[in-house]
Amino acid sequence: MYDVIVAGGGPVGSSAARFCAEEGLSVLLIEEHADFGRPVQCAGLLSSAAFKECRVSKRSVLNTVSGARVVSGLGSELSFDAGRTKAYVVDRSALDREMAEKAAVAGALIKLKTSVYGVSDSGVLTTGVDGKESFKGKMIIAADGPRSIFSRIYGMKRAGTFLSGVQAEIPYQMNENLVELHPYASPDFFGWVIPCGKNRVRVGLCGEKNVKERFDSFIAGFGRENVHHVTGTIPLGVMPKTYGHRTFFIGDAGGFAKPTSGGGIYTGIRTARHAAETALLCCEKNRFDDSLMKNYEKLWKADIGNELSFGMKMFNLRKKINDETIDSLCRAMDNPGITNDIVKYGDMDSPKKIIKKLALRPSVMRAGGAFMANELKKMILS
Ligand SMILES: Cc1cc2nc3c(=O)[nH]c(=O)nc-3n(C[C@H](O)[C@H](O)[C@H](O)COP(=O)(O)OP(=O)(O)OC[C@H]3O[C@@H](n4cnc5c(N)ncnc54)[C@H](O)[C@@H]3O)c2cc1C
Repeated sequence: MYDVIVAGGGPVGSSAARFCAEEGLSVLLIEEHADFGRPVQCAGLLSSAAFKECRVSKRSVLNTVSGARVVSGLGSELSFDAGRTKAYVVDRSALDREMAEKAAVAGALIKLKTSVYGVSDSGVLTTGVDGKESFKGKMIIAADGPRSIFSRIYGMKRAGTFLSGVQAEIPYQMNENLVELHPYASPDFFGWVIPCGKNRVRVGLCGEKNVKERFDSFIAGFGRENVHHVTGTIPLGVMPKTYGHRTFFIGDAGGFAKPTSGGGIYTGIRTARHAAETALLCCEKNRFDDSLMKNYEKLWKADIGNELSFGMKMFNLRKKINDETIDSLCRAMDNPGITNDIVKYGDMDSPKKIIKKLALRPSVMRAGGAFMANELKKMILS
């Protein structure tokens, strides 16, 4: 009997397996694919804090970026550059593989080419390279990503919104220090261009609908030579209950990606940390009831809960802001006082700080219009 069975060997599952094993728990990590990190379903942009959370070498790093350029699509632009590394662009396959290696070195047992398809009274049921098997575990950590089966098995409610994403890696020349954001490319989210090495970029977008059509029209501006194509889903909105039935839901399986950017690695690894801490507590007390497991929800809420719910409100507000308003916001923010604030207070993982600062600027609020100003005021005060 294992203390913990982790289903899913993405960055979040591998982190959970590693944290649990480092605490001395016996861990089995089950991954359905033959290798970690494939297929890639990610733009590979990690804030410095997110990269630090991965606790790996710089082997997977392809580029570093220090700022951003926002392109309104109607003529205005806004650029800012901190002049120091703010984020890493990584090879996700290499990153995921190293994270799984670290879990193994910490003591987790790894089973590849094996898919979890069900649960039993005392663990999980799998099918794969060794046929049908069952594994016993005191607790399960569901880290099986956007398609997570556990919520369905238990009849638990899942994330409310699913974004689709499409991305191509292409040869293209741009400023290698800046990430580009193109909000007009996807009116309910945004498009991006991420420099990932010499003359090579990742061009992509996420959205709730018409994603293929939007992507075809966006990529047309960059040429058609596609080196690597990526598609994927991002669940947004944390499950109403993130534990139960001896199982913790972490990362994309629980809907923990940031609603402002779709990035799920930072928040996912934070949930892995809190699930591991609570699993240790449960095993030490030999108690696996909801009243002790809910410690997990208490920990993640205190850590990232506020930013996630603020981010969800920003996600809903963004959908009501049109290209013309974004164009005037770019113009209003294009002054050194404001770009200095963005560099100083901007944080990919905690956008609330900079939004609060910008809301104090009358010129920005005028450019955003009365609706945006009122919505922001409500969000900041709530
Ligand atoms: C287009 C796109 C771009 C993105 N860009 C970024 C970005 O730049 N930065 C960022 O931070 N995030 C980004 N994300 C989000 C990020 O990819 C996810 O949030 C992150 O991968 C979540 O990690 P995870 O370990 O929870 O899930 P996953 O990475 O999805 O890993 C889940 C793992 O579980 C395995 N699995 C699934 N079902 C089973 C089963 N039944 N049995 C066994 N194994 C199973 C899968 O094979 C997989 O290895 C992007 C997403 C998309 C779609």
